[in-house]
Amino acid sequence: LVSREHHPERSVVRVRGVPIGPDTVTLIAGPCAVETPEQTLAAARMAQSAGATMLRGGAFKPRTSPYAFQGLGEAGLRILADVREETGLPVVTEVTSAHDVEMVAGYADMLQIGTRNMQNFALLQAIGETRVPVMLKRGMNATIQEWLMAAEYIAQRGNLEIVLCERGIRTFETATRNTLDVSAVPVVQHLSHLPVIVDPSHSGGRRELVLPLSRAGIVAGADGLIVDVHPQPELALCDGAQALIGKDLDELAKAVVDLTAYM
Ligand code: PEP
Repeated sequence: LVSREHHPERSVVRVRGVPIGPDTVTLIAGPCAVETPEQTLAAARMAQSAGATMLRGGAFKPRTSPYAFQGLGEAGLRILADVREETGLPVVTEVTSAHDVEMVAGYADMLQIGTRNMQNFALLQAIGETRVPVMLKRGMNATIQEWLMAAEYIAQRGNLEIVLCERGIRTFETATRNTLDVSAVPVVQHLSHLPVIVDPSHSGGRRELVLPLSRAGIVAGADGLIVDVHPQPELALCDGAQALIGKDLDELAKAVVDLTAYM
């Protein structure tokens, strides 16, 4: 169902009217984790003033360490919904369990499946039963074929509003948190009609890599970017090292516009 053999034209997924697909580069930005109403609103304002058309923010955070901040849960979703009310930006947020799909979908405009859950088949099927747009991140150890099969689990239940997100894979290299697999963008676009975006923040894991990785993703043909931004990265409860501040995001957004003018 997700292959181009089945559907030769590349698809556009609309999230509350915001298109993700060919002929646009959709910029999604926001905090890695929702911490407070003030922090989330400040990050959303930075996103919006840079030209982002969607807000990201995690309320359920699947952290490697059980001692790390795990997110605010439903209270965080309420903050996201309030910030959407304030800014008009549609919200994408992660859901980590099949049991929470209905509840999270009550607040979010797009559901995110994180790298650690790419093969959580019960979660994929539960989201497949909804008609809510979904962003499926690539498992850090998954091949492109496995990633597309995970998308197929969602599509098989009737939900074809799927955007794929390349967020870096595990390689022998330790200089970056993960290795952004730029080649995945054209490979996926050849095999599948689904839009594919790039996450330069979670792949590199460091602020100074976000702009060059964004450029690389766009030149490879990505349909969008999802970027972490925080009003005070040094105080962030999650992944502050990769968070941009407003002026960095402005620069990134300008680079997106400049590069797309040439393509
Ligand atoms: C995120 O985007 O908040 C996140 C945790 O990403 P990933 O699942 O790619 O690590």
